[in-house]
Amino acid sequence: MKFRKLFIVLIGLLTTLKGYSQKQTIYVIKNVNVITMASSNTVLENATIVISNNLIQSINGEIPKNATIINGKGKWLIPGLIDAHVHLPTDGYLGQKLPAQTPDLSFNTQDIMTPIIANGVTTVLDLNSTMETFAQKKAIEKGYIVGPRIALAALINGGNGQGRIANTAEEGRIMVRNAKAEGYDFIKVYSKLNIETYNAIVDEAFKQGLKTIGHIPDAFQGNLEQAFVPHFGMVAHAEEFSKKSDSFSLQEATKFAKLSKDNDTWLSPTLITMVWIAKQTHSIENIKNLPSLKYVHPLLQSKWLTANKYVKNASPESATYFDNMVKFHFKLVKAFKEAGVPIVAGTDAGVSGIVAGFSLHDELELLVQAGLTPQEAIYSATLLSAQWLGIDKQIGSIETGKLADLVLLDENPLIDINNTRKIAGVFVNGKWLDKTKLNAMLTDLANRNSVNKDKFDWNTFMNKKK
Ligand SMILES: [Zn+2]
Repeated sequence: MKFRKLFIVLIGLLTTLKGYSQKQTIYVIKNVNVITMASSNTVLENATIVISNNLIQSINGEIPKNATIINGKGKWLIPGLIDAHVHLPTDGYLGQKLPAQTPDLSFNTQDIMTPIIANGVTTVLDLNSTMETFAQKKAIEKGYIVGPRIALAALINGGNGQGRIANTAEEGRIMVRNAKAEGYDFIKVYSKLNIETYNAIVDEAFKQGLKTIGHIPDAFQGNLEQAFVPHFGMVAHAEEFSKKSDSFSLQEATKFAKLSKDNDTWLSPTLITMVWIAKQTHSIENIKNLPSLKYVHPLLQSKWLTANKYVKNASPESATYFDNMVKFHFKLVKAFKEAGVPIVAGTDAGVSGIVAGFSLHDELELLVQAGLTPQEAIYSATLLSAQWLGIDKQIGSIETGKLADLVLLDENPLIDINNTRKIAGVFVNGKWLDKTKLNAMLTDLANRNSVNKDKFDWNTFMNKKK
């Protein structure tokens, strides 16, 4: 009798578990137009996508029973978007400048991730990660937080600042090996590295199987071509070229493009970064009036508005200079595209004016203005980016067997790139979040930020720490 009872309980439990997992994991998007971004470059009309266990199980296959149906009629499906340049806020990230602990600050991880996933960004490359970024990544992977996949880069700089500093070749190699041992995915090189150390870092990173992305150190001023050593993987801003340009001419842009092409170095132009530097140099009102500002933590809002170096140093001359930079960056993108250098979408989200998630759509729009087709712009934020990150077997295109990182759009982005903003729902980390859910998350975040506004004045906060 006892055995029988146990048996019945076990069967009951298994049935419940089975029902639970099916209910959680099988979705079907029906009659949807799929922009696959696969190498075949096809658009599938009226397709049926089956998703379970966070994987694309089939395209135009059988529809399983008990599946949750999502009506895709008239809608467009693209792969989850990738922002290859973000700075996720962490307490320590602000703490770098602070002498003491920061007991009255704790960024809520979900609040940081909400604007990112609400914009269909399902993967980010964080370009100055710390142990706290590892914790954020872990919380997402475990499903405690709904957020993007995070790739982590260890930033190495020279000079005498804080963080990982290397001023000799040997120190550079040690820093790289430490970063590898700590679990970082990429190495970011920064502006103050000397030439010998930079060369050693790029070389050691390659030996350790890590790609290098970053700034072109100031030490290469006047001899830029020497920075293009083998395995320098990606230049992180168009600004790295424009800073070292004296003519802002198309000829110079073409010369830079050739350097990159010959060295197999990719470019993430981060056009939106310079657009925002120019905008706030013109007027702080541009930040005040930014519709997505309300999704930024109040302490960072306060920092952007009251302790903004671009506003502080603003002059009509600097505004004109940055406007010219923006124009030159457009020329750079044109020249790099023509030279066949892969161009990857990144935003530098976290810099004043650049709101994570929202900014990626701005970047896509700017890339199209600079001469990419909408198809190429989407490619730069999906498969191409995934290839550089080395995860294109898992993500970057809509194909059977790949992870279900998906963005459902109300309108066709191949006709107008701004349609990537018209999000009907997002699949991320096995979860389906429709527009209603995403909007509710955003509204809740904005409300709480607004209520807490007075608690987080940047200047009071900084004084308290002294
Ligand atoms: Zn950055």
